[in-house]
Amino acid sequence: MKGGAIMKYSLFTTKEIKPLGYIKDQLRIQAEGLSGNLDKMWRDIRDSAWIGGEAEGWERVPYWLDGFIPMAYLLEDEDLIARGQKYIEAIIANQKENGWICPCTDEQIPAYDTWAVQLISKTLYTYYLSTGDERIPEVLYKVLKNYYELLKKGTVKLFFWGEHRWFETFIALNFVYDTYKEEWLKDLAKILKTQGYEPLNFAKLYKTPVSKTIQQTHIVNLAMMLKYEAVSYEILGEEYKNNAEYLYKMLYNYNGTPVELFTGDEHLAGLSPIQGTELCAVVEQMFSYELLYAYTGDVKWLERLEVIAFNALPGTFSDDMWTHQYDQQSNQINCIRFPAKPIFGTNNFDSHLFGLEPNYGCCTANLSQGWPKFITSAFMYKDDEIINAIQIPTKLTCKKANIELNTEYPFKQQFNYKVEAKEDFKLIVRIPSFVEKLYVNGEEIIKQNKLIFDFKAGESREINISYKFEPEFINRPYCLKSVKYGSLVFSLPIEAEWKMLEYERNGVERKFPYCDYELIGKSDWNYGFSDVELSVEEREVTKVPFSSKEPPIVIKAKMKKIPWGYEPFYDTVCAKVPKSTEAYSDEELKELYPYGSAKLRMTEMPMVD
Ligand SMILES: [Zn+2]
Repeated sequence: MKGGAIMKYSLFTTKEIKPLGYIKDQLRIQAEGLSGNLDKMWRDIRDSAWIGGEAEGWERVPYWLDGFIPMAYLLEDEDLIARGQKYIEAIIANQKENGWICPCTDEQIPAYDTWAVQLISKTLYTYYLSTGDERIPEVLYKVLKNYYELLKKGTVKLFFWGEHRWFETFIALNFVYDTYKEEWLKDLAKILKTQGYEPLNFAKLYKTPVSKTIQQTHIVNLAMMLKYEAVSYEILGEEYKNNAEYLYKMLYNYNGTPVELFTGDEHLAGLSPIQGTELCAVVEQMFSYELLYAYTGDVKWLERLEVIAFNALPGTFSDDMWTHQYDQQSNQINCIRFPAKPIFGTNNFDSHLFGLEPNYGCCTANLSQGWPKFITSAFMYKDDEIINAIQIPTKLTCKKANIELNTEYPFKQQFNYKVEAKEDFKLIVRIPSFVEKLYVNGEEIIKQNKLIFDFKAGESREINISYKFEPEFINRPYCLKSVKYGSLVFSLPIEAEWKMLEYERNGVERKFPYCDYELIGKSDWNYGFSDVELSVEEREVTKVPFSSKEPPIVIKAKMKKIPWGYEPFYDTVCAKVPKSTEAYSDEELKELYPYGSAKLRMTEMPMVD
């Protein structure tokens, strides 16, 4: 990634990193599902005002392209590449001479929420990283210059989304500054920060979440916000104070879930395992952590990133990625429409259904960025170092080296690196903190947080690394426990009947395969753990890596039934906490599935008496 001047580690492009193995299968599923087909069947992409149509012309096309384009290039799929390019060409062609790029009239500009300007600048930068298209630096220069002039004159002001997502502009702003080094860009940075909101002033609100529509506790704003200081401090001439860690802890301590999300349905909702989290927040939190690591080099963001990517992201999609939820819950025993007031704070009655656009269509467009950006973060670099940040099967082809990493991590703990050095460099492999035993080429070595391998130009070598660690119970609020094994969180799966719903609402058709589904729970879910012993069983990773039918790994746990009960006034939602932890059944050996495979699940459960 250009923009390296202020990054601790720079990102490689989609030309340099390619997915292999199971992660390629996962990306192919995405391409063959909703994400890869929205331009054919969903009005807000197919007929968007961004390409001269009548439909939504604000955030949905930029959200979609931000993931669709890197996906197309990672898969080297000519058809996907051509379809993305059509949108980019229309967007560039519609840019006005003065730089304004969003599809609206001049008269509309003074009242325009410029979140769309911030977002399209980020998307065009993502496109540039995939293609190196030489027109983009100037396109972005003009977008930002025009934005600067409008803000400086007072023609536009930051309000609503733009005011609470101001830092998103800095992804492109840092790049344009690195390219042109013009002083007005620093002035633009200051105006954005001054007109934008200051997260630190509102962190106390995280302690007492209320179901109210306020921007400062909006879950997607918060997921994006965590990177605000990292991306902005240098161009603003400020000192880095690591505010992200304080804000993360405030969010996590009062709203954290076992899969590293914060409840937000769609505003912060506390620690209850039956509150939901919006999918936009899942992918935005991932992107924030990828950049937090790149900008600061602090590995804890990568550990948190893995937990979201390997659990929360797959957990909220159907196996074929044609349907997704708006809100996912950690204890989710049914996904059935609420006949009256939903359990969710400010989200509606169908937010937890698997569908085309349950609740609202933002996630339908924005879901595309999750896997592609995660894959592109597998390796990063700095001077003579190449860092393997995320250990997923990938192939890196760059100036210094060719590196192929074959692994089925996080399902299995073996890693095979084939390295061909073209220049002298150091390969740095990050070792997660939960690793208990560490082996290199078959020999156990002392546990450490990174391994450094020196390579000389022309040298070819294979390295085999493996880990050992044990599954563990982690404490959750309300005296509940979750099972974790490395970065994977495990849930008691509940058999689901998928009830197809085909219908039309507000002119948007739901039809197979882009229909909605209610998931009706068909097996008992009222269990607690009756023994601390857990045993891991590795299985085959199939073509559907997070399959709900053939999970790649299970954990066996001894469990007993307890009287749990339903949440008052809801007969499809389990109670926040069980009525009692006194077991009333014999012990059973139950299989726990990875959270990402268990579409209906219990993730937070007590120890029985
Ligand atoms: Zn959304």
